[in-house]
Amino acid sequence: NYIVGIETSCDETAVAIVKNGTEIISNVVASQIESHKRFGGVVPEIASRHHVEQMTIVLEEAFEQAAIEWEAIDAVAVTEGPGLVGALLIGVNAAKALAFAKQKPLVGVHHIAGHIYANRFEQEFEFPLLALVVSGGHTELVLMKEHGHFEVIGETRDDAAGEAYDKVARMLNLPYPGGPHIDRLAGTGEESIKFPRAWLEEESFDFSFSGLKSSVINTIHNAKQRGEELKNEDIAASFQASVVEVLTEKTYKAAKQYGVKKVIVAGGVAANQGLRTALQKKFSEIAIPLLIPPLNLCTDNAAMIAGAGTIAYQQGKRSGWDLNANPSLVLG
Ligand code: ATP
Ligand code: MG
Ligand code: FE
Repeated sequence: NYIVGIETSCDETAVAIVKNGTEIISNVVASQIESHKRFGGVVPEIASRHHVEQMTIVLEEAFEQAAIEWEAIDAVAVTEGPGLVGALLIGVNAAKALAFAKQKPLVGVHHIAGHIYANRFEQEFEFPLLALVVSGGHTELVLMKEHGHFEVIGETRDDAAGEAYDKVARMLNLPYPGGPHIDRLAGTGEESIKFPRAWLEEESFDFSFSGLKSSVINTIHNAKQRGEELKNEDIAASFQASVVEVLTEKTYKAAKQYGVKKVIVAGGVAANQGLRTALQKKFSEIAIPLLIPPLNLCTDNAAMIAGAGTIAYQQGKRSGWDLNANPSLVLG
C-alpha cells in the first residue's frame, strides 16, 4: 500500500510517499534553518508561518517526484505530536483537509515513533528490539516487543542529547544547529579535559546531560579567568567523549539485559560520527545486530512518519476529524 506522510513538528516542512512501510517513493524536506539561524534557535511563530507557505509546494513536489495519483493512496499519516503546537497544527490541518477531500483514512503518528521507523527503510525489524532515541528534544531507550508497541525503559531527566550539543555549540559561538559543528570539531580535537559521566544509579537506564553542560560552561569560564586559551576542538572532543560513552554503555547494557535481537539508533544525534563509530565498535563485540539510518533519515523528515503511519494503518488505527495537535503527546 501507499501512505502519504506529513511532518511539521519543528522547523522542517516535509511530505513523503512510502510504499509498504519499507520503500521511499518520494521524500521532500523544506528546511527553515536559514530563517532561524540568526536567532540562535527555532522561533515558533516564524516556524508556523513558514509551514503555511511551504506546505502546498512541498506536497505537490512529493507527488510529482513520486509520479503517483491520489487514487493509489491508501491513507494520510501526520505527526500529531510532540513538538511546537503552532507548527504541528499546520501539518495536522493540511492532513485533515487532504484526507477529507480525497476521502482517505487519517492516521495520527507520534514524532518519535517516526524517528524509530526511519530505520525500517534500511532493514526489517526483529523483536524484541531496542531503540536508542537521541534527538533535539528526546533522549530515551525504547523497548519494542512488536510493531507499533513502545516501552520507554530510560529517558533523560533534564536536557536531551541534541539540546546539550546545541547549548555547548552556542557557548563556542558556533552556528545553529550546533550538533554537526561540534561533531566536526571533535573529529580534529583531543579529549584533553575529563568531563563527568552521568551514570546515575547502577540499575537505571535514565540519562542526564545538564551536569555535563554546566561543567563545560565552568571549564570555559575558569580558563578565561586564568587567561588560558582552551582549543574549541578539544572542548568539543572532550564533551562528545562524555556524551558518547554514556549513550553507548547504557545502550549496550540494556540490549544485553533485555535480550534484544536488534538495536537501532534514531533522531538527529544519530548522525553523530563519534556516536556511530563507538556504537559500531561496541556492538561488533557481541552478536546483536546494530542498525543506524543514513544521515538524511536521522533528522526530521516525512518518510519516517509515513513509515510509522503504515504500521498504525495496518494495525487499524484511525484518527477522527477531531484530531488535534498535541505538543506533549506520550509515546506508547
Ligand atoms: P525531537 O525529534 O525530539 O522532537 P527535533 O526534531 O528538533 O527534536 P531532530 O531533528 O531529530 O530533533 O534532531 C535535531 C538535533 O540533532 C539538533 O539538536 C542537532 O544539533 C542534532 N544533530 C544533528 N546532527 C548532529 C551531529 N552530527 N552530531 C550531534 N548532534 C547532531
Ligand atoms: Mg529540525
Ligand atoms: Fe525530530
